[in-house]
Amino acid sequence: MTNKNGKGLVQIFTGNGKGKTTAALGTILRAAGHGLKVFIVFFMKGDYEYGEFNALPKLPNVVIRKSGFRQFTDPLNIKPEEKEQAESALAAAREATLSGSYDLVVLDEVNVALEYKLIESAEVIKLIEDKPPHVELILTGRYVDNRLIEMADLVTEMVKVKHPFDKGIKARKGIEY
Ligand code: ATP
Ligand code: MG
Repeated sequence: MTNKNGKGLVQIFTGNGKGKTTAALGTILRAAGHGLKVFIVFFMKGDYEYGEFNALPKLPNVVIRKSGFRQFTDPLNIKPEEKEQAESALAAAREATLSGSYDLVVLDEVNVALEYKLIESAEVIKLIEDKPPHVELILTGRYVDNRLIEMADLVTEMVKVKHPFDKGIKARKGIEY
């Protein structure tokens, strides 16, 4: 089934408030409910126990691709294997986008991977340019490149008003991961 609206757009969820990845996940839930085919690639998330890694494959027509390592990426000390993982994840997203097999492709935390120079912005720009018209693309992560903002149809900046982290409440299983 192809995207019933015919036209696929480019959406970006950015900013330093919570809700970027979960907004993308919510869209996936909605798309899957209408029989759209979904591919999501996670940058820099490795084998951490995110609930979505378990739940997404249970949805019809949703394929996930994880990349990265369990430990956090240190932007001041990028390892070659971290770049390799991110580059191969981007290649997988490109293949899925161009394959014609998916209606919605999500690149979760791609903006952070760009900021950390794990991947080239020219490659992401090319992906947007080459995307078949019916494919909806969602890019998430704080920091966003201005060229991507210009190319996008929808950009939402999550603004932090309060976050429990600021009063020492650590990430909770099932809520933050
Ligand atoms: P979520 O996955 O909950 O939608 P997010 O994608 O907007 O969050 P990221 O920037 O990817 O947030 O942050 C990763 C983790 O940091 C998440 O567990 C998130 O809850 C948490 N987080 C988000 N915003 C903040 C913040 N302003 N301060 C501290 N932690 C945050
Ligand atoms: Mg996120």
